[in-house]
Amino acid sequence: MAEQVRLGKTNLYVRPIGLGANKVGGHNLFSGLNNETGKEVVRTALDNGINFLDTAFIYGPEHSERLIGEVLKERGQRDEAVIATKGAHKFVNGEVVFDNSPAFLRESVESSLKRLQTDYIDLFYIHFPDEATPKAEAVGELKKLKDEGKIRAIGVSNFSIEQLKDANSDGYVDVLQSHYNLLQREAEKDLLPYTKENGISFVPYFPLASGLLGGKYTKDMTFTDIRAKDPLFQGEAFARNLDKVEQVREIANALNAEVAHVVLAWYLTRDSIDALIPGAKGPEQVLANLKTLEVQLSQADIEKIDRIFQS
Ligand code: NAP
Repeated sequence: MAEQVRLGKTNLYVRPIGLGANKVGGHNLFSGLNNETGKEVVRTALDNGINFLDTAFIYGPEHSERLIGEVLKERGQRDEAVIATKGAHKFVNGEVVFDNSPAFLRESVESSLKRLQTDYIDLFYIHFPDEATPKAEAVGELKKLKDEGKIRAIGVSNFSIEQLKDANSDGYVDVLQSHYNLLQREAEKDLLPYTKENGISFVPYFPLASGLLGGKYTKDMTFTDIRAKDPLFQGEAFARNLDKVEQVREIANALNAEVAHVVLAWYLTRDSIDALIPGAKGPEQVLANLKTLEVQLSQADIEKIDRIFQS
C-alpha cells in the first residue's frame, strides 16, 4: 500500500489517490445515480485504503454528505477517513448565491457535522468566493472553528490569486482546490507557484477533464450533459484533445498502464500537488484509479507529457 502524504502544513495524512464524491449522491449534478452504488463507491474506497474523501454541501445538495456519514457510521471507525467538505452555497428564493460571511460559514460547518454524523471535519473548504466578505475575515472564522476542534484544516476553492493571498494573509490556509488538468493549465501561472512557496497543498479538480483525459473517448462521440457545452468537447478542439490523449497512450502502453493512470501519475509529480480526488461513478472506477499508484514515470516521460500538452 502506497505511503501516506501530508497535506500542506497540516497533521492530515492521506493516500495520494482519494475519492471525489460528487457522484456519490450528487443527484442535482448527474443523472442516473443510485444511492446504494454511491455508498458502495465509498465502502470500496475505504476497504482499499483510500482515506481522502472529497464532498460538499452542494452535492445533492446535502445528500453526498449524508451518504458518506451513513457509511462511516456503519463502519464505526471515524478515523479511517480524512473527510473534506465544502460550503458557501446558499439558497435564496430558490436561487443559489455564495456566502462567505463568518456566520454562514459557522452555520455551514455545524450542519455538515450533523449530516456527516461526526464531531469533527478534517478539512473544510470555502467552496466559492462571494463578492462581499474580505477573505481574511472568512478564513479567520474557520481558524476559530479549528481552534474549537470542529474542523482540523482550512481550505479554499475557486479563489483567484488575489483572493488566495487575502485569505492566507495570516498563513492559515492549508489547502487550495482549483480547476486544473493537463488541458486546462492556467493555475500554473500564479496559483501553483503561490501554493508551493507557502506550503499549501494544491488539490486539482477535474483531473481527468470530466473523462476526456480518461482514454476511453473517440472522435465520433457526442455528449448530452454539461460536457455538451464545454469548449474542450467542441468540434476541432475535441479532435485535437483526443490526438493528445493518443500520444499519452503510447507512453501508457510502454508502461503497461492505462491513459488515466499515466495522466493522474503526472499530476503527482508536480510541486505542491500531494493528493488527487478523481471522481468515480462505480466501485470499478475507484479500483481502477488506484492503479495510478503503480505507475512510475521517468523524467523523460514527465517531460514528454508536458510537451504534448504545451502545444
Ligand atoms: P474528473 O475526475 O475529471 O472526471 C471523472 C470522470 O472521468 C468519471 O465520471 C468518469 O467519466 C471518468 N473516469 C473516472 N475514472 C476513470 C478511469 N479510470 N478511466 C477512464 N475514465 C475515468 O471530474 P469530477 O469527478 O467531476 O471531479 C473530481 C472531483 O473534484 C469531484 O468528485 C469533486 O469532489 C471535485 N470537484 C470540485 C469542484 C470545486 O468547485 N471545488 C468542482 C468540480 C469537482 P465517464 O465514466 O463518463 O467517462
